[in-house]
Amino acid sequence: MHQRSKSAVLVVEAAAANRALICDCLSQLADARPVAAASGTEALALYRQLAPALILLDTVLPDVDGLTVARRIRAAEKSSEQADLLAWTPIVFLSAATDDETLAQGILAGGDDYLTKPISEVVLLAKVRAMLRIAAMREALRDAHRQLTEISYIDGLTHVPNRRRFDQMLAAEWQRCIRQNLPLSLVICDVDFFKQFNDHYGHQAGDACLFAVAGALHESLFRVEDLVARYGGEEFAAILPGADGAGAVAVAERMRASVAGLRIPHEKGVAGLVSCSFGVATAFPASGARAGDLVVAADKALYGAKEAGRNRIAVGGED
Ligand code: GH3
Ligand code: MG
Ligand code: MG
Repeated sequence: MHQRSKSAVLVVEAAAANRALICDCLSQLADARPVAAASGTEALALYRQLAPALILLDTVLPDVDGLTVARRIRAAEKSSEQADLLAWTPIVFLSAATDDETLAQGILAGGDDYLTKPISEVVLLAKVRAMLRIAAMREALRDAHRQLTEISYIDGLTHVPNRRRFDQMLAAEWQRCIRQNLPLSLVICDVDFFKQFNDHYGHQAGDACLFAVAGALHESLFRVEDLVARYGGEEFAAILPGADGAGAVAVAERMRASVAGLRIPHEKGVAGLVSCSFGVATAFPASGARAGDLVVAADKALYGAKEAGRNRIAVGGED
C-alpha cells in the first residue's frame, strides 16, 4: 500500500526540454516535489506508485494520449479499495491547442484546469499553488472523515464497538462464513442484577462497572477476527467467525471468568460480586438463512442462563 505523498507533483510531458523546464520551475515551491514522466504508461505507473498531490498532463504523448490517461486515473479513483467521496487527484492539462473544444474535452475527461503552451512560469506557479492548496484541504477533510467514521463505530461509554458496528460486522462475517464454509458463533452477554447495582451504588458506579465489564470481555477474545460490541444497555455481544459450538462455549467461559475475576462488589449480585450470564448459538451460515435468527437463538439461550441461576452459560438450540 503506497503512502500518499502530499508534495509529489507528477509532470507528464513528452518533450524533454519542456519537462526539465517545468520541473525546474516547480522546484522553487517549498511544498512541491516534481517527478517527471515522458509517456502515458510511465505516468500511470508513477500515479499508482506515488499517489501524487497534483498531475500536470501533456495532452499529446507518444503512447496513450493525455485524455485517456486522465480517464484511467478517474476510473482508478472510483474503483480503488479506499474509494471514498474525496478520492480525487487534481489534473492540469498542458496543451499547445487553445481552442474551446480541446479545453472542454479535457475537462470532460476528468481534468480540472488547463495551461496553454508556451507555459508562463508565473501562471504555472500560481496554478500549482492553488491546486496544492485545494489538495491539502481535501486531505484534511479526508482525515477528519476517517476519524469521524471510526468514532461513529465506537460506544462512547465502554469504548468497545457499538451496535452499529456489530450489525455491520455480523452481516459481513455471515457472508464471509458462507463463502468459506465456516461456522459462525454468537455470544450474548447480560450483566446480572444490574438494575439493583445502579439502585444500590448509583448510576455513575454503574457506568464504571459497564466500562470494566466491557474491558474484561474484550480481553477474553484472542482471535483478531473476533469482536465484542455493546449491544445495548448492559448487554454485550461477541461475533466469533469460524468458531464451532465447543469453541464458542470455551470463549464464553473465558468471558464469564474474566468478568468474575474483576471482583466488583455487588451486594445484591451472585455471591456478592458483579457477574454476567451468557447465551451461545452457532450456525453454519447459508444463503437463505438469516443472521438475525442466530441472534434470537443466542438471546433465548441467555434467557435460559438467567433462569438457571445467572453467572453461567447456556447454549441455544440452533446449529
Ligand atoms: P437481570 O439479571 O435479569 O439481567 O437483571 P437486570 O437488573 O440486570 O436487568 P434489567 O433489564 O431489569 O435492568 C437493566 C439495567 O441496566 C437497567 C438500566 O438502568 C441499566 N443500564 C442500562 N444501560 C445503562 C448505562 O449505560 N449505565 C448505567 N449505569 N446503567 C445502565
Ligand atoms: Mg438486559
Ligand atoms: Mg441484566
